[in-house]
Amino acid sequence: MADPWTVNAGEISAAVSRSRREFLRSLTGAACYQPFLSVSAPQFASAPKSRAQRAIVVTFGGGCRDEEILTPHGQQNVPYLLRELLPQGTFFTHVENRGILGHYVATASLTTGVYETFDNFAAVPPQSPTVFEYFRKDLKRPLHDTWVVAPSNGFNRIGSSDHRAFGPGYGAQVVLPKRFLKQALASNTTGDYARLLQDNYETPLFSPQVEGGRFSLDEFTELLNLSAKDFVTQALTLSSADELSFFVAKRLMRRYAPRLLWITLHDMDVAHAGCFSLYIEGIQRTDRLCREIWRTIQSEPEYAGKTALFILPDFGRDSDGSIGGNGFQHHRTGDALSRTTWMLALGPGIHQNRVVDRPIAPLDVVPTLGAMLGFDARMARGKPLNELL
Ligand SMILES: [Zn+2]
Repeated sequence: MADPWTVNAGEISAAVSRSRREFLRSLTGAACYQPFLSVSAPQFASAPKSRAQRAIVVTFGGGCRDEEILTPHGQQNVPYLLRELLPQGTFFTHVENRGILGHYVATASLTTGVYETFDNFAAVPPQSPTVFEYFRKDLKRPLHDTWVVAPSNGFNRIGSSDHRAFGPGYGAQVVLPKRFLKQALASNTTGDYARLLQDNYETPLFSPQVEGGRFSLDEFTELLNLSAKDFVTQALTLSSADELSFFVAKRLMRRYAPRLLWITLHDMDVAHAGCFSLYIEGIQRTDRLCREIWRTIQSEPEYAGKTALFILPDFGRDSDGSIGGNGFQHHRTGDALSRTTWMLALGPGIHQNRVVDRPIAPLDVVPTLGAMLGFDARMARGKPLNELL
């Protein structure tokens, strides 16, 4: 795949990073309890005292523009991210995504540490080994120790690659809550349930076939320790698909305490439908759910004080200024704004109140998880982030 990055894109991306830094600096004193310690290079006076033994990765899914979160006007949409979580973690202002901007392929690239090049809408596994496979193979971890909770049936194959040295025998279990809710609701999938069941927002008529699913509905509800009836009852109290994913993730945490959990949030991608207020609602909900996930970590004995949380978008959205730009709606131009994202990491051994400006890649997440948890992401193209180790 040709590198979509240009010199001009590099300049725009660096400017975005600087703008984020300036905005975060403006929060100092106004909203945060402590001043930010800003650094440009990974040089620390003291080594972290402890290191995470578990990790949860959350994609701030679908991506959003800085206008809606990292500006004086947009900050109101993400109060928990900026005021509660960010002061407790290390924030990277400059993540450059040089891969394909489709949600499944981009998320798969995050899990492998390699820019995957398959068709975003194909029911295929990643080509390179996933983080789940490195984790289970190197650390000899059982099946229930790693899970993916995903929003779309199109993510069904994300749990393992087809690499011959790895593969499904080492993969994560992938839970598609909407799929099971649809089965549990049987034919009654209209009206109020529709908000929970739409597969994706970019191609609303696309309905991928789920092949090779590991569980039946009965097995799924057994995994959650719920009856199908109770699962439906619970689900219908929730306002969105991301809430459903969080509900399932929390049950999995309580029941199996997986050491490696990947949660893909996606509500804000409703932006494709063109309704700004729903897009904003999605961002606000994602903000709240990220805080709920962090609070769940702190309240569960298996996780408290032992768990790193990574929060990052799969990618951003187009700028208005580029040719074909379309406001908040899409990510079709592949411009520098849609490729310049951010990441927040929190947990034991991770510096608090820290902002890092140097450019990093989404591919760095998997090698960093490897260095943290003790496995070797040997085919990943990224590098471990020393700022977190
Ligand atoms: Zn999208």
